[in-house]
Amino acid sequence: MKTVTTKEGVRHLVGEWKKASLTVGFVPTMGYFHQGHLSLMDECRKLADRVIVSLFVNPSQFGPNEDLASYPRDIERDLRLAGEHGVDAIFMPDEGEMYPRNHRTWVIVEDLTERLCGGSRPGHFRGVATVVAKLFNIVQPDVALFGQKDFQQLQVIRQMAKDLDMPVKIVGCPIVREKDGLAMSSRNAYLSEEERRSALCLYRALTLARRLVLEKGVTSCLDIQKAMREEIESFPFTKIDYIFTGDPESLQPLERVRSPLLVALAVFVGTTRLIDNMLI
Ligand code: AMP
Repeated sequence: MKTVTTKEGVRHLVGEWKKASLTVGFVPTMGYFHQGHLSLMDECRKLADRVIVSLFVNPSQFGPNEDLASYPRDIERDLRLAGEHGVDAIFMPDEGEMYPRNHRTWVIVEDLTERLCGGSRPGHFRGVATVVAKLFNIVQPDVALFGQKDFQQLQVIRQMAKDLDMPVKIVGCPIVREKDGLAMSSRNAYLSEEERRSALCLYRALTLARRLVLEKGVTSCLDIQKAMREEIESFPFTKIDYIFTGDPESLQPLERVRSPLLVALAVFVGTTRLIDNMLI
């Protein structure tokens, strides 16, 4: 596996692959790999001749009071895991390589970014869309894979690629969970033992919503949200950021249950903000 730190290096490497008529698959990440990341790499292997992964903790998607400085990192372990999962190259730029001092251009995807995480993390999706657009321009992949764990992010990237005529196929991949249902996340590393137990409230609330719709025939989204709220608040150390019930395409909230229904939520467990979602 090759480790590349410059845009120039990536262009050269991918250029060689393209000259040999090989297709290129791309998995953007912020590192500290878990099974969720690795599942994207494995899927990418099936979809393209060459797999390139980026590892960049993107400062522009973090708010001033968020966890940029403390974001978990373990480059050595990440490189080993990526190698074991058949990744051909890792792109690990530093901040200056991605954002030279005179960077002035930003990608804003309207409407889809107003609610859910966009509502509570102003500027977050501006940072995400911009870094992904830059990475697409650097790597020029045929296909790029994203996890449904970050459902809104996936929709924002799809919209951006379509609106800006980016010649890349966007593929969404299923959420990988721990045995008890907690969605895997690099941020789970922040949780103490007791917080880890409380972190299960997200999955519990989602499965409760699913049960209410599919088994109890509940049709009011407000009723679903209320039940989810009570479930979450029954766990210690939890503070709800948002609960969303709505249309998975437009990300508009719904009053009545429709199929498919996106149920998504963000909850602080202690100081750690966790997100999860389910399509019902
Ligand atoms: P991150 O490093 O958190 O930016 O995530 C990199 C990619 O991995 C994103 O496309 C995420 O949606 C995806 N991802 C993160 N956690 C999971 C998970 N539990 N299951 C599936 N994909 C995930």
